[in-house]
Amino acid sequence: MATTNPRRNDPLLLGADEQGAWPLPWLVEPMKRAKALQKAHALLLVGQAGVGQLELAGLLAQAHLCEDPTPRGPCGRCAACHLVRRRAHPDLLAVVPEAWRVRLNWLSEDEGGSKSDAKPSKDIRIEQVRQAIDWSHQTSGRGRGKVLLLHPADALNGPSANALLKTLEEPAPGLKLLLTSTDAERLLPTIRSRCQRVQLAAPPSDQAVAWLQAQGVADAPLLLALAGGSPLEALDLAAEGFESRLLAELPMLVAAGEAAPFVGRPLPRVIDLLLKLAHDLQARAAGGAPRFFVASRWPAAPDIGRLVDWQKALLRAARHDEHPWNAALLIESLVTQAEALWAETGTAPALHSAR
Ligand SMILES: [Zn+2]
Repeated sequence: MATTNPRRNDPLLLGADEQGAWPLPWLVEPMKRAKALQKAHALLLVGQAGVGQLELAGLLAQAHLCEDPTPRGPCGRCAACHLVRRRAHPDLLAVVPEAWRVRLNWLSEDEGGSKSDAKPSKDIRIEQVRQAIDWSHQTSGRGRGKVLLLHPADALNGPSANALLKTLEEPAPGLKLLLTSTDAERLLPTIRSRCQRVQLAAPPSDQAVAWLQAQGVADAPLLLALAGGSPLEALDLAAEGFESRLLAELPMLVAAGEAAPFVGRPLPRVIDLLLKLAHDLQARAAGGAPRFFVASRWPAAPDIGRLVDWQKALLRAARHDEHPWNAALLIESLVTQAEALWAETGTAPALHSAR
């Protein structure tokens, strides 16, 4: 199911527009913090997925390269701002894994046309880092320094992370590095320690809901909950066709072994939703409130031992989602395992109602 939302197709288009307005209003405050660190040559933008790390990096790059900056940030009108927004600025290089280039629709026309059998890499490869380092030593095209953006830095593998270290320690004169991360603890400590960290929190939910509604999202509160508070993730869920009726029934459908709602959806998305459901079932079993699903009905408390086993199976599947032997069969099997959570309680899930 392709995401059709144009915003997701190119976040860097989200830099300040001609009026200097930022479409992600919650970036104002982290932008201030990041700008206060402008002497640092490397920033690490950290936050949960979907809160706007790449968008903030785009804004910071634009602010750095802008030829008529305002106290608030980039002007949005100068030639440099236009070039950044079109990803055509010679002094901005965004290094992303192949899989992200596909996801962001950054493939050039000839790349898009020739489909190879190889799966796009999820890693930032060492050749990409080496090319970026070579690029960083060339003369700045417009004379305001250069910005090298790595998104997400979590995708650096061992060799590519090591190749980057020297540049992080002694960058070429005028080079600014912007790294994004959803899980900074997984980065090499030597990478982390060479960057100043800017933490991004999810926006307050009323702000996020208002923003989602302005994007035309109908079930904003529900999708925001399912996205764990990340507005951009909620926007993706909306674009993937998740709507309130389906989501409200999903816990009961899974408990009844119904895999139909997941047919044709990408495996990582399905596993993510099942993991969230497992989390909520566990929370409810412990007497707490569910975090992700706003369901109209919940199945009875499942067998906890089996729930833990199911969670482990889901985590295993999440680790191997690059090589599914057969995604449809795997989904079927994971949902069948979910149904078995209730097998020994003797309750037919479909007959249980509300909390
Ligand atoms: Zn400008």
